[in-house]
This record gives sequence, C-alpha cells and structure tokens, in this order.
Amino acid sequence: MNPKVFHNLSYGVYITTSLDGQRPVGCVTNSIMQITSQPATVAVSVNHNNYTNGCIEKSGRFAFSILAEGSDPSLIGRFGFQSSRDVDKFQGISCDYVNGLPVFKEGCGYVVCKVIGKMETATHTVFLGQVEEGEVGPLTPAMTYSYYHNVIRGKSPKNAPTYIPEEEKKETVQAVPKAKWVCKICGYVYEGDSLPEDFICPICKHPASDFERA
Ligand code: FE
Repeated sequence: MNPKVFHNLSYGVYITTSLDGQRPVGCVTNSIMQITSQPATVAVSVNHNNYTNGCIEKSGRFAFSILAEGSDPSLIGRFGFQSSRDVDKFQGISCDYVNGLPVFKEGCGYVVCKVIGKMETATHTVFLGQVEEGEVGPLTPAMTYSYYHNVIRGKSPKNAPTYIPEEEKKETVQAVPKAKWVCKICGYVYEGDSLPEDFICPICKHPASDFERA
C-alpha cells in the first residue's frame, strides 16, 4: 500500500472542541464529513490519545470551527501540537460559546453537535454528531489540508488519521536545495541560508532555539 494515495483525498482543517466539566478543551482534526442533511449529522475522527476524545465521550457533545486559509496558523500549533491534558489551550485567546461549547467565529464557520453514535477503530473514535447549531463565518476560502501542507508547510500531528511516519515519506528533491531547520515542537520546516536568531515558528510560536538543522 502506498499511503501517499491518501493525500489525494480532500480534507479541511478544523478545531474540534468539547468540555472537560466546565473547562473548554480542543484539538485539531482534519477528518470531518457531513453524513446526512435532514436531520443534519456529521462524523469526526478523534485519536484515542487526544484528551478531547474522552471529553466528547463524557459530555456527549462537541463542536468544530472551520479554519480559513487566512486563519492564524498559530491556532494549529496551539491546538494541534500540545495537549489539553497539560495546558489550557484557550488561555490568552478569545472564543465564543454557542450552546455552551467553545467555537471560533472568525474563520469559515462553526458547527455544534450532540453525539448520537460512535465507532471505535484501532487508534481513533469516529463520533457521529447530530447538528444543533451552525453558522458561516466571515472568511473564505476554507483551509484545505493540502493548503496547510503545501502553502503553510505544516506537518501532521502524530494523532492525525492522515499522519505518515517520516521514514515512509519520500521528499521530492528540489532543483536548488536549501538548508532546512525543523521545529522540534511542531515539525514546521524553515528553508533558507540561515535561521534568523529571532525567528518564531509561525505554527507553534516557539523560538529559533527549538529548531534543529535537518
Ligand atoms: Fe513549531
């Protein structure tokens, strides 16, 4: 099997949120799809290792916000490359609450759901959600997963269904090879002659000291 074939599937980039009691939690997901229109239902795939998974399970509710190409990529670092087990991902940022669940209204839109079914796989839970609320946001177009990879040059968190281990990847050789520095936190790749000392990772906001030469 060539896992790169999955890169030809279309995905978006979403912040999927839930509640840990009263505390908001969330993670980045890319596998969300609409299942039915009436009643509106959607499915989301969440890794067992994501703290948000257990919170969706316990609360029976989740929401997701649809990121736009113009959304701040640091949202992906904040929600995709650290765990709600260890940090409050919502600290220092503003969000709105719809039907009690945290959403980000400034992207392409949001959807709020209650869980009406689930399916377990070896690594992920697929939650089926009946839509309670949904609204479009001010930004367009939606960020696709390939835009995230190819334009923002972001990497897949290890918990993503689409994650491919590095050794399985065959990077295409560039005509003019440049030096590369890789963010040890999120995997963002900086290319250039040298890494500026004051460089800040655009994805996870960590400093140049958290980069290593590839
Ligand atoms: Fe980073």
